[in-house]
Amino acid sequence: VPPKMRKPDWIRVKAPVSEGYAETKKLMRSLNLATVCEEAACPNIGECWTKKHATVMILGDTCTRACAFCNVKTGMPRSVDPLEPEHVATAAAELGLEHIVITSVDRDDLPDGGAGQFVKVIEALRRNTPTTTIEILTPDFRNKHEAAIEAIVEARPDVFNHNLETVPRLYPTIRPGARYYASLRLLEMVKKLDPSIFTKSGIMVGLGEQRLEVHQVMDDMRSADIDFLTMGQYLQPTPKHAKVEEFVTPDAFKAYASIARAKGFLQVAASPLTRSSYHAGDDFNEMRAA
Ligand code: SF4
Ligand code: SF4
Repeated sequence: VPPKMRKPDWIRVKAPVSEGYAETKKLMRSLNLATVCEEAACPNIGECWTKKHATVMILGDTCTRACAFCNVKTGMPRSVDPLEPEHVATAAAELGLEHIVITSVDRDDLPDGGAGQFVKVIEALRRNTPTTTIEILTPDFRNKHEAAIEAIVEARPDVFNHNLETVPRLYPTIRPGARYYASLRLLEMVKKLDPSIFTKSGIMVGLGEQRLEVHQVMDDMRSADIDFLTMGQYLQPTPKHAKVEEFVTPDAFKAYASIARAKGFLQVAASPLTRSSYHAGDDFNEMRAA
């Protein structure tokens, strides 16, 4: 490894050894639920699971796409588990979650792109844990996004998150199955259909983007009325994945955060270990209390 690409000191993570970690893992296995924490090899798993914060990944653990940054398995997914919505609700109740983040793999193979399962999960959570606030982090529902978005908006999640992941110039190599403007329009559509739903998006940095390109993404997000922004350092999950081009310093993250706040985002989380769902519940509750 060339010295400049060695992980800097500010990317330090705790080993996942706590009791909370073990309990969270056991619960997820017993309910047959996948988590993005594990599948994406998230560096925060020790911290989050100790606090019993986990992000459930619905619609199985196998994705129909293969983004260059992502550790999730690619292939032909299994059929949709009809028990999954109830299992997610049980997990939320057992973990005592005030706020839950639900994400999914991309299911280009399903006629509705998986939107129906998101709706069922939201409904199951509302029935079983009515005070839990719900944040969904969705794929782009390529070619079926209008019907998918309408159905999900109707189910009224509290936060609708969809990540732009990177600057448009890097899409062909980093996120080849997706279109930058389609992702932006998706979030714009959510806001137009129901302005009471908070919209959220995020990008990874360290993939070779320029500062000005990042500022432009922020402007694009604001013109699509996106409320919350997350930014974190890209980490290469395996040598097969896209290389880290740069380790963005904590100070540079702070600079990004203050620019983003000036552009009018309601909430900004930007730090090396920020992920879409990192501290999502704390940040959301803080914002609502303010
Ligand atoms: Fe899971 Fe999100 Fe925490 Fe990572 S940051 S461990 S994905 S809840
Ligand atoms: Fe990973 Fe999502 Fe890309 Fe699938 S669509 S490979 S889960 S980032």
